[in-house]
Amino acid sequence: SGERTRLPSWLKTEIPVGKNYARIKNSLRSLNLHTVCEEARCPNIGECWGGGEHGTATATVMLMGGECTRACRFCSVKTSRRPPPLDPNEPANTAKALADWGVDYIVLTSVDRDDLADGGAAHFAETVREIKARCPGMLVECLTPDFSGDLDCVRLLVESGLDVFAHNVETVERLQRRVRDPRANYAQSLAVLQHAKRCVGGPDGERTPPLTKTSLMLGHGETDDEILQTMKDLREIGVDCLTLGQYMQPTKRMLRVADYVTPDKFAHWQRVGDELGFVYTASGPLVRSSYKAGEFFIKNVLQ
Ligand code: SF4
Ligand code: SF4
Repeated sequence: SGERTRLPSWLKTEIPVGKNYARIKNSLRSLNLHTVCEEARCPNIGECWGGGEHGTATATVMLMGGECTRACRFCSVKTSRRPPPLDPNEPANTAKALADWGVDYIVLTSVDRDDLADGGAAHFAETVREIKARCPGMLVECLTPDFSGDLDCVRLLVESGLDVFAHNVETVERLQRRVRDPRANYAQSLAVLQHAKRCVGGPDGERTPPLTKTSLMLGHGETDDEILQTMKDLREIGVDCLTLGQYMQPTKRMLRVADYVTPDKFAHWQRVGDELGFVYTASGPLVRSSYKAGEFFIKNVLQ
């Protein structure tokens, strides 16, 4: 189509295949797990599942079903006012499957469930506890909804013992209304991230606060000043990790790409992130929120 021919060359990629990739893919077949990596046909799957130089394989699993109560204009996940009820066995089944799978760093994410009183926070937290019980060495990141700003839900999740609390601000302040569902907003997302950093992690309440992480999509028409301001706002509230990637229109009905940001410009934001003091900044056209998250964690946090 016309869209495709206008794609800049740096976005036309072949999927690279790492050495763990085939093993993980084979073992996945027998497990009833829905990875975002496969379902979104993410171009980073070879690198994430392959594990890179530290051999730390990352994958992203979607919890709480495939229907979302919200309708962000950049996202092609199906919208439903009343998604099916939660599967009470999902936390234990997910943990069992992950124990067999052998991935090192798991990102748990979900649709938004505004139909549930706690937005699914307890279900999310139980999944973390099940995983930590069965696979104590596995690093767990939760990429969460905003829970409509309910900070008790944030605390519940942090106290589950997760390693990284992630919530995406998605775009700069001016473009929130254009890009995200109207129930989401910039101040609310910052409040969620700030609160997670203030909570003390771990079921025993003795662990250090979790690492916090957020993502920005570029290509919605934001200015350099707006990006810089957002990065400063995030550092101000103690956000540790930042990823920046190019927005790609998932289907024709979704928001059009306003601009393609060059790889040089992404490299610039990487340097800015480093100067501002993020634990790590991952910035590049194909970078996604969970891009090589395990690899970055091992390299920048544990070493
Ligand atoms: Fe999976 Fe995220 Fe990596 Fe894509 S970037 S392969 S969705 S873990
Ligand atoms: Fe998509 Fe998340 Fe927005 Fe739901 S809340 S429409 S899953 S981006």
